[in-house]
Amino acid sequence: GRRTPRWDRVVLKISGEAFAGESEFGIDGATVKRIAQILVDVKQEFDVDIAVVVGGGNIWRGMTGAGAGMDRAQADYMGMLATVMNALALQDVLEQLGQPTRVQSAIHMSQVAEPYIRRRAVRHLEKGRVVIFAGGTGNPFFTTDTPAALRAVEIGAGVLLKGTHSGTDGIYTADPRVDPTAERLDRIGYLDFIQQGLQAMDSTAITLCMENQMPIVYFDLLDEGNLRSILAGEPIGTLVT
Ligand code: UDP
Repeated sequence: GRRTPRWDRVVLKISGEAFAGESEFGIDGATVKRIAQILVDVKQEFDVDIAVVVGGGNIWRGMTGAGAGMDRAQADYMGMLATVMNALALQDVLEQLGQPTRVQSAIHMSQVAEPYIRRRAVRHLEKGRVVIFAGGTGNPFFTTDTPAALRAVEIGAGVLLKGTHSGTDGIYTADPRVDPTAERLDRIGYLDFIQQGLQAMDSTAITLCMENQMPIVYFDLLDEGNLRSILAGEPIGTLVT
């Protein structure tokens, strides 16, 4: 039989940047395959339900458009569409690897994805399918951290796993790419995170997790073995509680 994981059900947020691989933009096929293989491996090893929330920053971010003079809501809807492309790419590779997968989108696009229906998503998970949530919350003025927190709470996940791109092994006291004195944190409280003005996650998402006692693990998804170690109960990345 498969091993019992630390949490029976998890929501994994995959940032759009993780899909871009070495390039900063677009979808890198080899990297999507790596991500899919990581998911397939942990599904085989552990008796765990996995739901994924995908970002879209590798294709489009609403703030970029707004910064260039676009209407913010319009630009954010474009960002939500970008997440659907990442979701379909991940679904394609997961299914090629034999892992049944469903995409549910908060923006209705019936030709390519199911609409988001909470009870149906839970049913898919119970049947062993990986469910990919696309389209963010379906509302502008959020980033995909917020639907990740929201879906985690809604479907009764035990933890929100925020998987980032190569090189981000945890939350730092400042941006380590800019500030050489930045220190990596093993653990931080929700309120401290907000009060210190940390940018690693959206404060809306942190607040939602705080109000619902949803722990968050922030880690480097592309560091192979990390997801498996986390499910095995090892202290990887930064724990927010
Ligand atoms: N977005 C939105 N509402 C949501 C989720 C996402 O408007 O509920 C838009 C927003 O413009 C965001 C873009 O979709 O910039 C892509 O998501 P995000 O920036 O979170 O991607 P990531 O940083 O994970 O790559």
